[in-house]
Amino acid sequence: MEQKRIVVKIGSSSLTNEQGEIDDEKVKDHLSAIAMLQKSGHEVILVSSGAVACGFKKLGYPSRPVTLKGKQAAAAVGQSLLVQKYTEIFAEHRITTAQILLTRTDFSKKDRYQNAYETFEELLERGILPIINENDTVSVQELTFGDNDMLSALVSGLVHADQLIILTDINGLYSDNPKRNPNAVHFDHLTEITDEMLGFATAEGSKVGTGGMQSKLLAAKTAFDLGVPVFIGRGEGERKLLAVLSGSGDGTYIEKEHAMVVPSKKQWISLFSAVAGRIYIDEGASEALLHKGKSLLPAGVYIVQGEFSTGDVVEVYKERQCIGRGEVLYDSTTLKKVMGKRSDEIDRNMVVVIHRDRFVSTGRM
Ligand code: GLU
Repeated sequence: MEQKRIVVKIGSSSLTNEQGEIDDEKVKDHLSAIAMLQKSGHEVILVSSGAVACGFKKLGYPSRPVTLKGKQAAAAVGQSLLVQKYTEIFAEHRITTAQILLTRTDFSKKDRYQNAYETFEELLERGILPIINENDTVSVQELTFGDNDMLSALVSGLVHADQLIILTDINGLYSDNPKRNPNAVHFDHLTEITDEMLGFATAEGSKVGTGGMQSKLLAAKTAFDLGVPVFIGRGEGERKLLAVLSGSGDGTYIEKEHAMVVPSKKQWISLFSAVAGRIYIDEGASEALLHKGKSLLPAGVYIVQGEFSTGDVVEVYKERQCIGRGEVLYDSTTLKKVMGKRSDEIDRNMVVVIHRDRFVSTGRM
């Protein structure tokens, strides 16, 4: 069997009970299936929720806390309990684990994003199983990944996963809520995620987790746009994840016919970078950038706004429309001096403003 890189995401309700404890039986079932995937030669990354859900009871709360400090403290307690449990069980399968706690702020810095990528590569190359969660205890509320569904999608993109498996209690997606509408139709395979689907998926989560089907669908769309095939569904037993890979999983497969993986640098530009300025380009330059796969040259730029340095990311506008984002090879002061000039009028080593490999059009963001 061809070796694949697989990201498995497991939600709080699939790992804990409503009293705020780890559910040993559920956890053992998931981990045996993950161990089976790894033994079959695949590389596996686990994105695990459940820190808040298994931490609040020991912290003295009767149910999942609603305050930020309550959640952050519960996550601090629960994360160590979870990892202790994972380390113990995976050790029985002779698998060494590594804990990685991420925040969105980590990803907004290009070097940190790149370092995270290198670390994943090193761990996977050495047969280690990375276990990821959001670093809830220090995450700033406005700057989180949203939920672990989205975190798993972004990680899948970063590591160029061959498959993202989002394990949940329901067997995938339906045309309507199957609990309320007996005529709801199950989707086995989807080749696109439309706005209409995002609209009818419910935002309701479980009592212990955060994301509902809507958040799964949004995450699936992100992974899908980054070129990663997604499975959302359920299963039991140690062969359940192998079943997903072989196409017989109990859930919904979401994949493009010809998926193209988006390079990490472009992912960073479109998803995480902070915008430092704006440049306006003319019709010809826009055509070259968007449709001819060419880089942007100074001759096509006619307005430079903001102060930026070489390597910063700027928005590119054609008249009033933002057509994309790219990493500039000029600082704003130099660019103002050379804009509008033909390449033979400026220093030969500095001709390109945005290289085509560092430009992402709005449609792809
Ligand atoms: N990071 C949270 C936790 O471990 C879960 C977030 C989510 O449910 O998506 O408790």
